Amino acid sequence: MNVTLDDIKAREARHVLQTYRRQPVAFVRGNGARLYDVDGREYLDFVSGIGVASLGHAHPGLTAAIADQAATLIHTSNLYYHPFQAEAASRLSQLSGLARVFFCNSGTEAVEACLKFARRYWHTQGATGRTGFVAVEGGFSGRTFGALSVTHDEHYRTPFEPLLGPVTFVDPARPETLAEVVTDHTAAIIAEPIQGEGGIRPMSHAFAAAIANVCRRTGTLYIADEVQTGLGRTGAPFYSQTLGLEPDLISVGKALGGGVPVAAALVSERVAQAVSPGDHGSTYGGNLLGTRAAAFFLDQLIRGGLLEHVREVGAHLERRLRALALQHPIVVEVRGAGLMRGLQLSVDAMPIVDTARERGLLVNRTDGKVVRLLPPLTIGAAEIDRASDLLSEVLTAVQSEVQV
Ligand code: PLP
Repeated sequence: MNVTLDDIKAREARHVLQTYRRQPVAFVRGNGARLYDVDGREYLDFVSGIGVASLGHAHPGLTAAIADQAATLIHTSNLYYHPFQAEAASRLSQLSGLARVFFCNSGTEAVEACLKFARRYWHTQGATGRTGFVAVEGGFSGRTFGALSVTHDEHYRTPFEPLLGPVTFVDPARPETLAEVVTDHTAAIIAEPIQGEGGIRPMSHAFAAAIANVCRRTGTLYIADEVQTGLGRTGAPFYSQTLGLEPDLISVGKALGGGVPVAAALVSERVAQAVSPGDHGSTYGGNLLGTRAAAFFLDQLIRGGLLEHVREVGAHLERRLRALALQHPIVVEVRGAGLMRGLQLSVDAMPIVDTARERGLLVNRTDGKVVRLLPPLTIGAAEIDRASDLLSEVLTAVQSEVQV
């Protein structure tokens, strides 16, 4: 491609709204877990578009399905039927045990849908006072007003207040407080089973048990925000299952379309019964292209052995990261599950991210001092070894600078 990074940067600086702090690289091509920049340089991708390129880049089967669908019919709207919503929905139900699916286009929309359906449920029961939400300190659920309202970070929230209310945040280290804050005004508790943007922090079993108890006692709904953890990322279809939780609603996105924007709210029969035609909708949501891609990805997960693969290589990744932690004192903790891992550092993670990229490895910083790893679910053991070796070199280089 006849374009330079400097050209792209200059044009973006003039015309693109400056909401992102981009790293100085422009990608034009991918293949599996490899990305190639405008100069043809190769990178090993342990970010996968923040957990989206679940089958890696340019996966032949997904590419063929998308190309075929694009050449046949992309979009008709929700005024009419097409075959692929039911195809994708039945697979999502099979994986989650939740009866019904609402399709949308992004994680934040999936969360919005869950919040709306929770309120709709109590409205239908005649409990019109049950409008509040309980969320978790450190949680992230998206940038639209509803999802932002249950996102904890002040930096994202303050410029846009007033947000949706009432929302109460609880400290995940104090599960006993859940019983106090959930009242007969609470519609739902929303919590990520592993906080992603918050630093790869798995929910404790005590906190999961407290959610289960308070929901059983009060009828409060539990929304599992599995936009990042869901659909095989942790080696389970959903990490809430690993924690023994039975959510009434699950939000999914990211991995679902392998890069095609498609997301969904998964809904229990109890909640689904409260929702009527016209209550919610989306022009693009669940179009042929998105749901064809989703059905293809879900087939890989259910029948293609992808879940087993993630469990296997996820254990390998964990072993390699634990070995890194033993060798490098700036790594103070290894957290996460499957192919969703975080290295808690004692220093800012950005120099690690920058040095790794300069050496051909893409990793990501979250919560300041955490290096986040979200490789494609198709990643191989040899690629994990290569990434671990590179990370080790990078940690050594950065550590020696920190000590100087
Ligand atoms: N929920 C969780 C747990 C997420 O990690 C994210 C994005 O990182 C979202 C919701 C929002 O998803 P999107 O950026 O697709 O709107």
